[in-house]
Amino acid sequence: MKKIVALPGDGIGPEIMDAGIQVLNQLTPKYGLDYKIERYDFGGCAIDSTGTPLPKTTLKACQEADAILLGAIGGPKWSNAPKRPEQGLLELRKNLGLFANIRPVKISKSLEALSPLKSERIRGVDFIIVRELTGGIYFGEPRELKKERALDTCLYTRSEIQRIMRQAFNIARTRKKKVTSVDKANVLATSKLWREVAEEVAKEFPDVKLEHQLVDSAAMLLIQNPKQFDVIVTENLFGDILSDEASVIPGTLGVLPSASHSEKNSSLYEPIHGSAPDIAGKNSANPLSMIFSISMMLRESFKEYSAAEELEAACERVIEKGYTTKDLGGKTTTTEFVQALIEELK
Ligand code: ATP
Ligand code: MG
Repeated sequence: MKKIVALPGDGIGPEIMDAGIQVLNQLTPKYGLDYKIERYDFGGCAIDSTGTPLPKTTLKACQEADAILLGAIGGPKWSNAPKRPEQGLLELRKNLGLFANIRPVKISKSLEALSPLKSERIRGVDFIIVRELTGGIYFGEPRELKKERALDTCLYTRSEIQRIMRQAFNIARTRKKKVTSVDKANVLATSKLWREVAEEVAKEFPDVKLEHQLVDSAAMLLIQNPKQFDVIVTENLFGDILSDEASVIPGTLGVLPSASHSEKNSSLYEPIHGSAPDIAGKNSANPLSMIFSISMMLRESFKEYSAAEELEAACERVIEKGYTTKDLGGKTTTTEFVQALIEELK
């Protein structure tokens, strides 16, 4: 029996988590996947119930899980909390050693038809952003915030860069065999080391082509010609920004999933978007980001490839039938979308 820990979180997190779990429960019986799902408080809701965003019981459950599903956390309610929900997320990533965040940006036929970008530019877009998740400026010490000056530290070690590079090259090996390493090596010391290590690791993968791009030009090319990319590997801050940027290709953050992997612990799957407080409680969130995160879980943690394929194909048909949430220009509510998808899976 596999144990899945669900962390619904805040804002639209619980809405899309419910959606995802209903769909998973409809899909899996015919594949004989035996699992139990346990829900734990995490983020703002955990601050409300326990005073801290990452309670010990939640962390322990995550350490013992076979896979972790996360909705989204945070919101204006906790912006002045002594410890913010986002700090809980950084702590969870650090504690589980989730150093590799995998963010696929693939545009299916049905989403292509809905994208605001010109379709020749995006037809067949299929790349993966591999974002380093436990280093860089989000974690570097010292940091300081005073009235007249503030300080952050961007720090990367050689071994941190090596392991994320290897992850990217291994993924590229299963795809078009091209890695684009994104840095700011003309200015930053961490980026100079990043580029040097990329070259070094590339020698272990002679079948994979490596190119370098500066982050500013990568940001432009991502919109101008996204089809040139296969695997993009980049540091924490650049990856955060580029993956939000990439969401304009499918037209919304609401369809983009992610997986985070560690060396020893189980993986965590979550939408790339935040808790979307502006639409929380309105039954209008797009649950596809969660549903696609679940399909990544089925593939990457449970090796249930056919189940994942069936799920994705069913989503495609439901969108083609015209069920789309507001962010994709439609009027379907979250619960209506889930109902339509469950019918499709029957
Ligand atoms: P964070 O700082 O946590 O990354 P953010 O500032 O990037 O958050 P999000 O919460 O990701 O903000 O939301 C950005 C915009 O995208 C909001 O207008 C939100 O309503 C919209 N959005 C995010 N997720 C969804 C979704 N699943 N369905 C529909 N709209 C969404
Ligand atoms: Mg964001």
